[in-house]
Amino acid sequence: MGAAFAFARWGTATPTDGLCVRPTGRRMGGRAPECQRPKETRIVDLANITVYANGEFRAYEDAKVGLLTHGLQYGTGCFEGIRGYWVPEERELFLLQLREHYERLAISAKILMMRLPLSVDELIELTAELCARNRFETDIYVRPCIFKAAEDVGVRLHNVPDAFAIIPIPFTRYLDAKDGIKAGTSSWRRADDSAAPPRAKITGLYVNSALAKSEAVANGFDEAIMLSHDGHVSEGSAENIFMVRRGVLYTPDPSQNVLEGCTRRSILEIARNEFNLPVVERSIDRSELYGADELFFTGTAVGVLHIRSVDHRLVGDGAMGPITKQIGEFYDRVVRGKEPAYARWLTRTYAGRAVKA
Ligand code: PMP
Repeated sequence: MGAAFAFARWGTATPTDGLCVRPTGRRMGGRAPECQRPKETRIVDLANITVYANGEFRAYEDAKVGLLTHGLQYGTGCFEGIRGYWVPEERELFLLQLREHYERLAISAKILMMRLPLSVDELIELTAELCARNRFETDIYVRPCIFKAAEDVGVRLHNVPDAFAIIPIPFTRYLDAKDGIKAGTSSWRRADDSAAPPRAKITGLYVNSALAKSEAVANGFDEAIMLSHDGHVSEGSAENIFMVRRGVLYTPDPSQNVLEGCTRRSILEIARNEFNLPVVERSIDRSELYGADELFFTGTAVGVLHIRSVDHRLVGDGAMGPITKQIGEFYDRVVRGKEPAYARWLTRTYAGRAVKA
């Protein structure tokens, strides 16, 4: 497993997968754990990145939050993860499903009693302009976030001012998975809607994902599958899950404490419209996974990700099945602007937009 990029600033994280940071010596922090850095890691200096924060474009280094910030101390924030795909032959960066992501962020914010500072249309335009200002010529990941910004003590949602930011970064792979990944059922149950709603992409809720992910990796798996409180399959640490049995595509319905993934929605649409597949959203038992013909995860970061085994049992014969392959390849064409019927999911970054300094 390895991330293709590491981010230079400060911190002591070990790059294993996903996003990681490396100390530079400019600030606090010790030396980089060189032995644990994946061979293909390229260091990206965050100092070169322009972000949007406090209502203006500014250098990453100049956009700071204080140590007592409510969102940091209590997890009272929410965010999105958006992908941008660089298509060299068109010299264009396609931003994927900005509208769907900002609509979901608006709902997450509402659940936490916050309001986005701009309309969804304005946020779409702002994000494209921000990416253009960064002059990215690589695949990217965009992280918009809205969080309780007061620097005070006292957990609550009401009467706390909020702040909004968008941070775009170069990014390619999240999980390295040519031959599919090994998934393991987590001993950590998915948070329940009645406790903290996974429907909202809430920063504090990612403790649940982090516990499950690290347990899975410590146990020799690549990714966790979390069950909900009543034992039904919910989702991965940062992915929705799909199962193929006897030509039918299944995924847990939204009442199974899943994040209602943008990729999940796209895959349901592609499966129905392009491959005429019967699609069923219902609760799934853990043991059904063991008898599945095919399993895959979906998510903005991973795309369509073939699951080779679950709890040490091969899925089918372990090889990627035909439905996963067809859907995955189609999705990869969609995100790079090769399927005109789905151009509505893409926002062009450079075409028709003057790039400001
Ligand atoms: N579930 C969780 C917990 C996630 O963090 C993600 C990633 N955002 C997903 C599912 C997949 O959602 P999407 O397809 O919108 O990225």
